[in-house]
Amino acid sequence: MRFRKELEKIRIYEAGKPIELIARDYSVAENEIIKVASNENPFGTSPKVKAKIAELIGKMHRYPDDGCYALKTALAEKYSVGGGNIVIGSGSDQIFEFISHALLERGDVVLQNKITFAMYAIYSAQIGAVTITTDTNRHDLRAFEKLLAKNPRLIYICTPSNPYGDALNKEEVFAFLDKVSAQTLVVIDGAYMEYAAFKDPKKRIEPKELIDRFPNTIYAGTFSKAYGLGGMRVGYGIAQEDIIEALHKIRAPFNITTLSLAAASEALSDGEFVAKSAEHNFREMARYESFAREIGLEYEPSYANFITLLFPQSRSASEAANALLKRGMIARDLKSYDLNALRVTIGLESENDRFFKLFREYWR
Ligand SMILES: *Cc1c(COP(=O)(O)O)cnc(C)c1O
Repeated sequence: MRFRKELEKIRIYEAGKPIELIARDYSVAENEIIKVASNENPFGTSPKVKAKIAELIGKMHRYPDDGCYALKTALAEKYSVGGGNIVIGSGSDQIFEFISHALLERGDVVLQNKITFAMYAIYSAQIGAVTITTDTNRHDLRAFEKLLAKNPRLIYICTPSNPYGDALNKEEVFAFLDKVSAQTLVVIDGAYMEYAAFKDPKKRIEPKELIDRFPNTIYAGTFSKAYGLGGMRVGYGIAQEDIIEALHKIRAPFNITTLSLAAASEALSDGEFVAKSAEHNFREMARYESFAREIGLEYEPSYANFITLLFPQSRSASEAANALLKRGMIARDLKSYDLNALRVTIGLESENDRFFKLFREYWR
């Protein structure tokens, strides 16, 4: 079969390996496997969510509320915006997909960081748009600024940045946005914003302030990270109404399930769970930093729920990832990002202890 020429350049996204697969491939019991590969919340999700899901079990024959009324109302209240400023996606991934389809045409230029979320470039390539990148691992807005001359139609800024962990100050982002054409849409991907804002309030970007000052921006958030709902697939975009309306033209009806909508609304009401998760995250992060210093590995100071360990040329991060995998520890090799590095999600205290032990055994 012949497919669109654009697809030839796309490599299928390699998702984090699920526990069940590793158990099968390496004959390790599922409950002995530790996954620190996909930036999931090690505490699971708020207990309030489980109770809510149980209530809805009898309603699965009904289509979900396509207007996502309850969730939009809860998000609108949290962020002080209107319901018309919000679109819900099956993960914030789907928001990026909507944006690509609503905005881009073949040959359009999309600007992003050198090291950044892999899906941006895939959605752009699906349309035949051309991705250009900065040449720095960290987000450096001066490097972005230099590339504005290429007339990007769309710009992705990921703060905190996955898989590197660095984050921008709100003020520097706003100063950059002042220089961007009003015809260019800028995506602020705040998938890890709950963590960054906890560690350093200067990193917090409030969607309302963002879109009021810069009507050519959209803020993307997700329930997959701090809220612990990766399996439910819920994300959102917040922007001015003209942008949201365009995205709704792309969205298929009923793209979010009844259970996912309820889980997300309920999760939003448990701020304590998120605060506890963030507090634990940075307490344990400090142990990873000491560990890295102790064994002599460089790392990127992180504002998210993972730490990126940078390997010296003499040692291979891919080899380390494989060695850990054989012992039931799933971490993320960053080879596909051209980095000799391992991204490790901050786990429970006991999981982190196990990581330190296994890594030490491997390293010496
Ligand atoms: C995890 C992640 C997302 C969102 O993932 P979904 O599960 O699709 O909501 C978005 N951006 C970045 C940078 C991420 O790491």
